[in-house]
Amino acid sequence: MDGTLMDGSGAPGLAALEARLRQDLEWLELPAKPWVPETTAPDGRPVADVAIIGAGMAGLAAAAALRLDGVERLRVMDRAAQGQEGPWVTYARMETLRSPKGLAGPALGLPSLTFRAFFEAQHGPAAWEALGKIPRGLWMDYLNWYRRVMGVPVENGADVALVRPREDGLIALEMRGAPEVLCRRLVLASGRDGLGGEFVPEMARGLDRRFWAHSREEIDFAALCGKRVGVVGAGASAMDNAATALEAGCSGLHMFVRRRALPRVNKFTGIGSQGVVHGFAGLPDEWKWRFQHYANSAQTPPPRDSTLRVSRHPHAHLHLGSPVTAVREEGGAVVVTTPRGAFTVDFLIWATGFKVALEERPELALIAPHVRLWRDRFAPEPGQESEELSSSPDLAPDFSFQERVPGACPALARIHAFNYPATLSHGKLTGDIPAISAGARRLAQGIARSLFVEDRETHFARLQAYDTPELLGDEWPERELTA
Ligand SMILES: Cc1cc2nc3c(=O)[nH]c(=O)nc-3n(C[C@H](O)[C@H](O)[C@H](O)COP(=O)(O)OP(=O)(O)OC[C@H]3O[C@@H](n4cnc5c(N)ncnc54)[C@H](O)[C@@H]3O)c2cc1C
Repeated sequence: MDGTLMDGSGAPGLAALEARLRQDLEWLELPAKPWVPETTAPDGRPVADVAIIGAGMAGLAAAAALRLDGVERLRVMDRAAQGQEGPWVTYARMETLRSPKGLAGPALGLPSLTFRAFFEAQHGPAAWEALGKIPRGLWMDYLNWYRRVMGVPVENGADVALVRPREDGLIALEMRGAPEVLCRRLVLASGRDGLGGEFVPEMARGLDRRFWAHSREEIDFAALCGKRVGVVGAGASAMDNAATALEAGCSGLHMFVRRRALPRVNKFTGIGSQGVVHGFAGLPDEWKWRFQHYANSAQTPPPRDSTLRVSRHPHAHLHLGSPVTAVREEGGAVVVTTPRGAFTVDFLIWATGFKVALEERPELALIAPHVRLWRDRFAPEPGQESEELSSSPDLAPDFSFQERVPGACPALARIHAFNYPATLSHGKLTGDIPAISAGARRLAQGIARSLFVEDRETHFARLQAYDTPELLGDEWPERELTA
């Protein structure tokens, strides 16, 4: 539904909301006037002030924050087709978001840019009250709308194959099947797996690929009808994949969980506050590690709705205290070994999360060896070791990478990691909905600062050249002037 007429639901329509958003922006004098000097390459090619890889929620919020700060020459590139960015309508398999519906998310402080405004404009306040959680397809609709009303110039089908720092300080992006893009700053908003990939235990690699998938992948669930399915893991994705297999008609579903009990408490959400949002980055290293190690060890529970979506099926079996110790093919099926017995399934889904492994991302091949990781300079206390944490990039206050060996790759100071692996350095500002606006603002302000500093000669010359008088010289009668 759209339009400006009320239809009895109290919904003014999206056109009215968009008019209000324009008014809000005008009252705030936003976007700020453009101020970054235009750059061209020595060969005359145009140079983007900032290029962003990824037009999911993080990329959109980052682009919108930069535009509001008057940084206007942006290239925002996503390899996905329009409307298919991120997990929401691709590999996400939950019915609704986990997050509460009222979060302001990527709205950047603008009430008329919130999901609630978007929803109420179309369906009215009563429907808002009646809404439980946000259906994931609707969240994608919201992101599509956000992109349009904030004028984020997304290029779809734009696949960045290689990030190549140049001698002259620019960064070249080699594109698959398209001309190279040049930029001064690069933001990696490339998602949960953007600095690595899916984590799958080595034992899976020995199994024929027709027997297994990672939860991140496209899975033909219809083909699992009547089959025995195993799911490894106990997080949200494990439950969502298990539920989808059950709803597709699998004959039996086995969930293999290492722990003796499902985690029940969502620790970090519990202490969520503006203190955590703004304060985490200021913690001493050992405290960052301590917070994050504790929260990771406690694990995030699967949402209750997702768990009930699985448990209501009588042929769903939860095997607790059952880490998978081996898998092997036998008689056209997979035998899954656990300390509590062996189980035969026809297909196995590893819902085992993601890893940070820059060297595994082809587009990062040239920079990966130079990026300083936490393990390069921080040794955790005994008992607090963590591969996930130690492989996190050690980021500067503006999310830029830092060099492992000073001077080896200065371009890293112009490449910003705005995705989940930034968490240990910055807190949860780079992926999840709750603090994405705070993250986008921190990023935009950091980039604005560094561009201004870099262009100081131009700005100083502008200062010298500026000669529009405020006083016209006729304010005092001449006889009262003394030199
Ligand atoms: C299944 C699932 C459910 C989630 N549910 C919630 C929730 O309820 N609440 C919450 O707060 N968080 C949730 N999250 C976490 C988080 O909000 C999402 O992961 C969100 O999508 C993060 O946004 P993003 O922009 O960082 O990454 P993405 O949305 O993944 O976007 C990254 C984009 O980068 C593009 N890309 C990557 N590499 C390249 C390249 N080389 N060239 C061009 N394009 C590239 C990809 O195509 C992709 O579109 C969920 C995550 C998942 C996986």
